[in-house]
Amino acid sequence: MISKGRVSEIFHSVQGEGLYLGEEQLFVRFFGCNLRCDFCDTHLNTFIEYSPQELFEEIELYNGAFGSISFTGGEPLLQAEFLADVLKLINHEGHKIYLETNGTLPGELQKLIKYISVVAMDIKLPSSTGMGIFWNFHRKFLEIASQREVFIKMIICSMTQEDDLRQAISLIKEVNKSAILILQPNSAEQDILKDKLQEYKDICRKEKLTACIIPQMHKIMGIR
Ligand code: SF4
Repeated sequence: MISKGRVSEIFHSVQGEGLYLGEEQLFVRFFGCNLRCDFCDTHLNTFIEYSPQELFEEIELYNGAFGSISFTGGEPLLQAEFLADVLKLINHEGHKIYLETNGTLPGELQKLIKYISVVAMDIKLPSSTGMGIFWNFHRKFLEIASQREVFIKMIICSMTQEDDLRQAISLIKEVNKSAILILQPNSAEQDILKDKLQEYKDICRKEKLTACIIPQMHKIMGIR
């Protein structure tokens, strides 16, 4: 049976976060997420159902006028089988595939890692998200993602605890100490986080991890 996928929006813009900041991308936003982070600003209420072929054809309408295709959400790996079917079609065209993910579904990542060029994964700090603990899922996820280019994003909020940062650092050092860590301030609290971000960056440097402070530029610039 051919899988169908739920996609909330497709649009061309500039990446506003992380190491690919400023890259022109085609964004394919998948509907639905398995988490409920306190700081979430992605509220998806609608979607269109596509077959893999239909989504592929829609992507091809953009004529490759982008540096990479960002599969984002929500959480795209919630629809891993559908995504794998789409990626099989896209890979024949030689596009660069960028996967933006919350980093909690390693079994799903395993199914399609061979089609991915760049993994932009989160590590969800419990004190930032207000949710449960995902260390083991993140560890396994980073192991698999490290087969490709990977970087890690952590959202830093006023509620974030240093112990959580230190736990994430030891996880990263254990699995892939060359992975670059992005410290991303919660946009709603950006102005009060400057000192904390610098302190956390210093901790990373002392632990010999490369960390960058990068806010969400699309919000600052007022672009989509
Ligand atoms: S993982 Fe991302 S999309 Fe899902 S709830 Fe958290 S911030 Fe929102």
